[in-house]
Amino acid sequence: MGKQAKAVVCREWNKPPVVETVEVESPRRGEVMVKIGACGVCHSDLSATNGTIPLPPPLVLGHEAAGTICELGEGVTDLAVGDTVVVSWIPMCGKCRYCVEGRPALCDMAAKATITLPDGTQRFKDKDGKPLNHMAGTGVMAEYATLHRDNVIKIDPSVGIDKAAIVGCAVMTGVGAVLNTAGVEPGSSCVVFGAGGVGLNAIQGCAVSGAKQIIAIDMADKKLEFARQFGATHTVNPASDGDAVAKVMELTGGGADYAFECIGLGTTIQQAYNCIRKGGTAVVVGVSKPTETVTLGAFLMPFQEKVLVGSMYGSARPSVDFPKLLDLYKGGRLKLDELVTATYSVDQAEQAFADLVAGVNARGVIVF
Ligand SMILES: [Zn+2]
Ligand SMILES: [Zn+2]
Repeated sequence: MGKQAKAVVCREWNKPPVVETVEVESPRRGEVMVKIGACGVCHSDLSATNGTIPLPPPLVLGHEAAGTICELGEGVTDLAVGDTVVVSWIPMCGKCRYCVEGRPALCDMAAKATITLPDGTQRFKDKDGKPLNHMAGTGVMAEYATLHRDNVIKIDPSVGIDKAAIVGCAVMTGVGAVLNTAGVEPGSSCVVFGAGGVGLNAIQGCAVSGAKQIIAIDMADKKLEFARQFGATHTVNPASDGDAVAKVMELTGGGADYAFECIGLGTTIQQAYNCIRKGGTAVVVGVSKPTETVTLGAFLMPFQEKVLVGSMYGSARPSVDFPKLLDLYKGGRLKLDELVTATYSVDQAEQAFADLVAGVNARGVIVF
């Protein structure tokens, strides 16, 4: 039967996204349709509109959403119409080597389903009947979306839908990089490069971990203000404070235990590696252009035993981690209310993207 829905679509790279009415196909076997309640506007959505993340248009944007199940496909017996769910942009097949090893963020099926559902086809059609791609295998910046069952995690419905939405990307990615990928120890010194949506969550992840020193680095004073609100003990703006690495060396007395790069630039990845102490860990969270490279001095590598590691989706195990993150919020340890600094209607999507570029929000969320 399907549904008509307003959706935010990238038609062409380097042009503002457009709002159009699309046809959402009913769920096939093993799929569900979700009435989307809210969808965060993530930097990765912006990166998809300018080709930094090269997902081909036409593309329904959005991968950070929560909503209510409104239709079940054949064979879905463990969810019911009316269930509140958070969307996970990895489907976790449960069968590949990585899922079996407990690392579903690296799922082989997820790596294939980047612009379609796992079976390789789309569930959106435009007014001419042409299929539209799904951002990150989800495409949830729309009133309705049909998704694979493994892309939704049932949650407690008492949490505000806009707060639940941002758990699906920014919170999972940032907090997960700290708790899951790095496993930050209490009393550590941590540096976070980039205080956008993900960076702020890395900062609050460090605070949850009991880090004693949390240094936020950003070129925008407004974002550093947010950083302090989320637990940064020190802030560095390289534009006014000088070299970030020298500043971290001075503040930590010889290098940080952990550094989190939440921007996606070769130069800041180098800085993250260079500002950690011997035996320290630098975590790359930011997604860079495919052409970006990193240059590191080789001589000292064996002498310093530093670790440089990537963090995919905060090394998420969504069915375990989403409820855990929401529990941390309910227990007052994670700030989600403060993260959502603006909400928009779907018709205001262009403004939401403009505000993301201008860096005015901790997180902007489209509420349907
Ligand atoms: Zn995202
Ligand atoms: Zn898998």
